[in-house]
Amino acid sequence: MSETKFYEFIFYALTFLLLVIVYVIYILIHKRKNKIVIEKIRKAKDQGTFEPVSLHPVIDYEQCIGTGACVEACPEKDILGLLNGKGVTINASRCVGHGACFHACPVEAISLVMGTEKRGVDLPHISPEFETNIPMMFIAGELGGMGLIKNAVEQGRQAIDNIVKKLPHASSAQLDVAIIGSGPAGISATLNSKYHGLNYLTFEQDTIGGTVFSFPRQKIIMTSPMNLPLYGKIKFTQTTKVELLNLWYSLIDKYQLKINENEKVIDIKKEEGIFKIETTKGHYTSSAVLLAIGRRGSPRKLNVPGEEKEKVFYRLLDPELIKNQNVLVVGGGDSAIESALMLADEGNSVIISYRSDKFSRLKEQNFHKIHDAISSGKIKVIYNSQVKQIFDDYVEIIVNDTELVKLKNDLVYVFIGGELPNQFLEKIGIKITQKFGEIVLSHKNEKANLN
Ligand SMILES: Cc1cc2nc3c(=O)[nH]c(=O)nc-3n(C[C@H](O)[C@H](O)[C@H](O)COP(=O)(O)OP(=O)(O)OC[C@H]3O[C@@H](n4cnc5c(N)ncnc54)[C@H](O)[C@@H]3O)c2cc1C
Repeated sequence: MSETKFYEFIFYALTFLLLVIVYVIYILIHKRKNKIVIEKIRKAKDQGTFEPVSLHPVIDYEQCIGTGACVEACPEKDILGLLNGKGVTINASRCVGHGACFHACPVEAISLVMGTEKRGVDLPHISPEFETNIPMMFIAGELGGMGLIKNAVEQGRQAIDNIVKKLPHASSAQLDVAIIGSGPAGISATLNSKYHGLNYLTFEQDTIGGTVFSFPRQKIIMTSPMNLPLYGKIKFTQTTKVELLNLWYSLIDKYQLKINENEKVIDIKKEEGIFKIETTKGHYTSSAVLLAIGRRGSPRKLNVPGEEKEKVFYRLLDPELIKNQNVLVVGGGDSAIESALMLADEGNSVIISYRSDKFSRLKEQNFHKIHDAISSGKIKVIYNSQVKQIFDDYVEIIVNDTELVKLKNDLVYVFIGGELPNQFLEKIGIKITQKFGEIVLSHKNEKANLN
């Protein structure tokens, strides 16, 4: 072999060796990543968070090219992962319906689906015009099964357009339409009612903004451009909670919209073609009703004396503003634990009152964090306890069904779950059907909506 040939041979051999090394490293990294995802899926199955319970992403395996854009876009942790170069769901039951994965996928391989073949989700029956089985009672937004702000806004607008077409020419009712809920769907419906010159009134059991109001202050909202009545096209695809709420507040102010906050609708009956609406503050009559109450329900109450005091809350919005207080957090789920940890981080003295003797079904991260906080004395937990009464500067709790304990207290945060809207829907006579894996958002129907 000539010298040149020899060097050529060495060169090709080294190049080949290098390629083999790169390939082996790639395979090893790939295998390691796969192993991590497989382990996460195993854990999710053990903890019962693998199977979706409601809205969740479904990835088209054939279409997916494995960029991982969905994994990166999802603000929640470990809902999605990459396995063998394809997107997969891990903790599907923890999907909250941001829709970020849906928008991020460059090849449109993700659809949002409600329920699964095995596990149905109860959804109210509605016509393409958003009318329920009760004539002139309509549903818009997430309650109808479709998550995301843009969809809620769009449906709120369309539902009012449909109501306008069906309103009787003459009626003895006080209102043309009663809108229940002031989340994105309710606000859009309220604006459209104003646009159509309807005699409307919007009821909100809590605060204007719905689920958006309860987002953490810093949360980035992912959305698609949408049409808001009386405003026009909202062009942004990313915004903040504050920016979106400020836009709504400015429109509410500009058009003097009638929204009764802190007034919960507790019953609706239809008599002689007119709806009789009972709220926590009064009675009203209306020709049409639009339910825009979302799917998150109402926070469950303790039902103890003193609960009506201003120091009792059911959500934690700005923990950074609460300092040096004696706080009681009631509950033992993820919301209670996360709130207790945030409050303790701000230098508050935090006690958790929990009715069971240990925490179960917590996110793994929360489970470890709370046990660390307990061991370091940062947070105290009183297990097997129930709140008896709330006073201005202390609370009384009963421990082990017998012992009465008094705790110095400035603020009480209650996180003991919620009453789902289904109970309310059944009470007012709305027919509910189970949906097994119904696609609520795909790129195909998204495009159809835009046309
Ligand atoms: C953590 C989290 C993050 C999310 N991030 C995004 C995101 O980035 N982008 C996106 O597009 N979507 C996101 N979503 C989903 C989005 O918030 C919802 O799809 C949207 O808010 C639904 O709007 P809605 O008007 O149908 O219901 P909601 O916003 O839930 O509003 C319903 C309103 O009705 C009121 N109400 C209920 N019952 C009664 C009653 N009986 N009487 C009077 N009032 C009543 C409630 O108090 C509430 O204000 C997220 C959701 C969560 C939980």
